[in-house]
Formats: sequence, C-alpha cells, structure tokens
Amino acid sequence: MQVLHTVNEIRQAVGQARRAGKRIGFVPTMGNLHEGHLQLVRQAHRTCDVVVVSIFVNPLQFGLNEDWEQYPRTLEADSEKLVGVNTDFLFCPTETEMYPNGMATQTKVEATVMTNVLCGASRPGHFLGVTTVVAKLFNMVLPDEAVFGIKDYQQLAVIRRMAEDLCIPIQITAAPIARADDGLALSSRNGYLTAAERPIATGLYRSLRWAQQAIEAGRRDYAAIEAEAKTQLKTAGMRPDYFSVIQQKTLEAATGQDTAIAILAAVYLGKTRLIDNVIINLHP
Ligand code: AMP
Repeated sequence: MQVLHTVNEIRQAVGQARRAGKRIGFVPTMGNLHEGHLQLVRQAHRTCDVVVVSIFVNPLQFGLNEDWEQYPRTLEADSEKLVGVNTDFLFCPTETEMYPNGMATQTKVEATVMTNVLCGASRPGHFLGVTTVVAKLFNMVLPDEAVFGIKDYQQLAVIRRMAEDLCIPIQITAAPIARADDGLALSSRNGYLTAAERPIATGLYRSLRWAQQAIEAGRRDYAAIEAEAKTQLKTAGMRPDYFSVIQQKTLEAATGQDTAIAILAAVYLGKTRLIDNVIINLHP
C-alpha cells in the first residue's frame, strides 16, 4: 500500500493505473477505521481493480461545539487494517492541501434539498462541509466508483443528489451497515461511550427494529410509532434527537401510501451522538 499526501501524488498514481486500463474504486473516510470501513474496501474490490482509501478529518463539516478536536486519529492502526484488506493507495491530505486558500473563502458545493432536516437540522452547515469535501476528494482522486455506507443514510442520499446534479461521472454505491454482535452500528464515535453507556446504546437499534416490525406488520400510524419509539429511547436512558419514518429517495415524511421507506434515528447518549437506520420495502 502506498501512502500519499498531495493531490499531485494521488493524481499521478491513479492516472497511471487508469492508463493501464484499471477501474478505480474510492472509499472516503475520516479514519479510526473499524470493520464497517473495511467492508466498504472489500466491496470496492469486488468491482474495481485498484482501491483508494482517503483519511481526512474534515474540519469544514464539524460545528463549533462538535468533536473535531477530540475525533480519534489512529493513522498507524488504520494503515495496518487497510493493508489487511489489500488497499492500493491511502490518501491522507493535510488541511493545507485540502484548503490551500483557507476554509473561510473555500468555494462550496451546496445541496439545496435534504440538508436542513434530520441530522442537518441539528448540525447546521454539516452537509455543506460534507458535499464540499467529497466533491474535492472526487476531483483529486478521479475514481470510477465511490463506496459509501448506508449507516450515514442521509449523507449517502445527499451525495447521490450532488453527483446527479453536477453530472459527476462517478458511480456511487452503497454498502450495508456493519454492526456489533449486540446490534449496535459500528462507529468511530462508539469509542466515546463509557462502559455504563455501551449496553444502553443497543437500545437505538432495538427501537428501530421494533418500529420496523410494527410497520411490516401493517401499522401506518407513523407519528404514533415515532412518539412511542422516542419514549422507548428516553426510558432506556438516551436523549432522542429525531426518530423519523421517511421516504427513501426524498427523506420527506412517509405517508401510508409509500412503499420505499426508511426509519432514520439519532440520539444523544451522554456526550455521544449516535445515528442508525433501517430500510423497509413494503409490498403494495
Ligand atoms: P466516516 O469515517 O465515519 O466518515 O465513514 C466513512 C464511510 O464509512 C462512510 O461512507 C460511512 O457511511 C461508512 N461507515 C461508517 N460506519 C459504518 C458501518 N457501521 N457500516 C457501514 N459503513 C459504515
């Protein structure tokens, strides 16, 4: 695995592979890698000849009071894991390489829908930072395909829309959520949980599954389901941010007529913010 730090280096390496007829896959991450990230790399390898992983803890997508400073940076362990899944190139740009003119005057890429609801409502500016950095990374790496986790459902929807709106010639593919044995979705932020909080965190997926089963069994009173689930989360010791039954494509509130739906949820547990979701395809 070659570790590269500059746009010139990654362009050169990927350009050489492309001229040799290789299909290039790309997995953008913020590091502190776990099995979920590694599954994205394995999935990229299934359809691509060469896989690039980036690690960049993007300050532009963190709010002022969020965890950018404290976000775990574990480059050495990450590199070993990436070698273990046959990553070809690890791209780790510095902040200056990413934002040579500074963040304040950086040209931004803004998705105008789906960004002010759900996570976007609690994290103003977050998706503006995400779309901007992902657009930049796409232009730096110039891959044929990029793999994103369904774990960050809203992010995936926003990036798909950005790629469509800007005619970005990169295939966006989705990878399923990797979970711990007890159901908790793997996340770098799980490391913030205390030993006492860790078992409580499993309640998030439990409530999502409960709601999924209720809907699959025929319930369509989504507002009532959302309210019940929030009560469950509070009783379990979490502070629900949102728990929303939505349409898969638009992220708008689902109605009883929709068949392609998902339930997206976010909670605070102590100082940690956790997100998770389930996808439901109802048969009309
Ligand atoms: P992050 O490093 O958290 O920015 O995530 C990088 C990529 O990994 C994103 O596409 C995430 O959706 C994906 N990802 C993170 N956690 C998981 C998980 N538990 N299962 C699948 N994909 C994940």
